[in-house]
Amino acid sequence: MEKPIATHSVSAEIIKKYGITPKKGLGQNFLIEPNIAEKIIKAAGVDKDDCIIEIGPGLGALTQMLAQTGARILAVEIDKSLAGALEEIFKSFENVEIIKGDILKTDVKKLLVDRGLERAKVCANLPYYITTPILMMLLESALPLESITAMVQKEVAQRLAADAGDDEYGSISLAARFYADIALNATVPRNCFVPRPAVDSAIVTLRLRKSQFMPMDEEFMFKCIRAAFGHRRKTLVNCLHERFDTPKEELAKMLESCGFNEMIRGEALDLKGFCLLSDTLNPIVELAGEKSR
Ligand code: SAM
Repeated sequence: MEKPIATHSVSAEIIKKYGITPKKGLGQNFLIEPNIAEKIIKAAGVDKDDCIIEIGPGLGALTQMLAQTGARILAVEIDKSLAGALEEIFKSFENVEIIKGDILKTDVKKLLVDRGLERAKVCANLPYYITTPILMMLLESALPLESITAMVQKEVAQRLAADAGDDEYGSISLAARFYADIALNATVPRNCFVPRPAVDSAIVTLRLRKSQFMPMDEEFMFKCIRAAFGHRRKTLVNCLHERFDTPKEELAKMLESCGFNEMIRGEALDLKGFCLLSDTLNPIVELAGEKSR
């Protein structure tokens, strides 16, 4: 296929030729704007020596342009009928491999190791219905990933990039920050897709690196973060009291010892603040017994 797939006419041709009916339940909104695919590739800094894991290649709009860079592409598609069509479309491309499967059930590390690959970048126009689980899986699995460049719902991109105090700030902002540096690259209007989704999108890049702030117990810090954002209107003391069953007076004292006001809410704390909070609270909760953890 020579013509860009990321156009209305070529996508329509493929849909007709292979008898494809876009599945809303799988988040199938296909990109029909080649400039947007180019922006994703540029934001990811793809070059011929890269290995790219593409999640959800769909009709191949992004896959095709990724393949033209000369990089090696491993494209994981859950929809068997799309994967079959893609195998035919990309049969003459030696650098493209279509993998049938659910990315959440795929052993990405094994995928790389089996092919003798040491590192990869992820590029994707992500299915909206599982954007957060996919991003969390990629961030938390200690995979040898350099970066994740993804098209996501605009509101999700804003949450990922939000800072303490912003309206969009939440546990996903902190998780993203713990694992990566985040850049918002571009917003993408809904008319760049067929079928047209109900929301706009944005391209976001997460460059993975070691966190500058390391709590003694990472899992416990994320428990604190989730508790803090469980009830946005409640103070941190109340959220932590509910989650860990620790007396409020003790929690207020603990916050004070960290230099925080006892009336503070979770959304005011940055990653450094949550690290400090976690390390200070952990021994108190441990003393109260394993049950409350
Ligand atoms: N990359 C294509 C494009 O830009 O036009 C398609 C993007 S579409 C928003 C999302 C794609 O992800 C669909 O092809 C869908 O079938 C696929 N998908 C949905 N859930 C998936 C999963 N769990 N694992 C792998 N692919 C998935």
